Amino acid sequence: MGNFVIAIDGPAGSGKGTIAYEIARHYNYYYIDTGAFYRAITYLILKNDISLTDTDAILALADNAHFSFKGNHLILDGIDITDQLRSKEVEKIVSQVSCIKELRLILNRHILSLAQDKDIVADGRDTTTVIFPNANVKIYLDARFEARIKRRYDQNKAKDIYSSYDEIRENIEMRDRRDQMKTFGALTLAPDAHYIDTTNLSIEDIINKIINIIEGEVK
Ligand code: C5P
Repeated sequence: MGNFVIAIDGPAGSGKGTIAYEIARHYNYYYIDTGAFYRAITYLILKNDISLTDTDAILALADNAHFSFKGNHLILDGIDITDQLRSKEVEKIVSQVSCIKELRLILNRHILSLAQDKDIVADGRDTTTVIFPNANVKIYLDARFEARIKRRYDQNKAKDIYSSYDEIRENIEMRDRRDQMKTFGALTLAPDAHYIDTTNLSIEDIINKIINIIEGEVK
């Protein structure tokens, strides 16, 4: 029997990161946050002062990077860089970086090789469509725009990142636009994904809903 793959898609602020990690913990599966790969490359671009137009340098960074996860922490080349991934500077350009098609191909290769031989929960914009089109269970988490802004605002506050409501609104609006317009790996609802509107649901409710779906698919 092959490995079990649970893929969770959805827009920024839909809660997919928190939920996907909790589901992974529930089943003791390996968690893969695909957004963290794009954030890590963006972090490296900023750190090495690479221009966004220097595609060759960006692709070389991605080619040479080694990724793994410890729980929900991203380990890049042996170093835990999780805390650096949510900065405003990274948030501002990550969706632009993620529009580079060749970069997506390289990162998808990294993601698939990490997933090999493991039961996994993967979250991110194209996990149910491009990366794991044959996932055993596909979930699409959505929430109304205002709810997504509030969630990201609360999340940032809990992590001591200060961003105003308007800043977050602008950032989410821009990322939604870019993520939906991508020519490759755009945010779309896979026809076989279970759609969940999480606007009025607690984290616990969402997790229970997903566990019910998973148990139903396995039977
Ligand atoms: O999920 P998260 O908000 O961490 O993702 C950061 C950005 O990375 C997204 O706004 C999106 O542009 C990009 N991304 C992507 N494909 C994925 C995951 C994330 O393009 N599978």
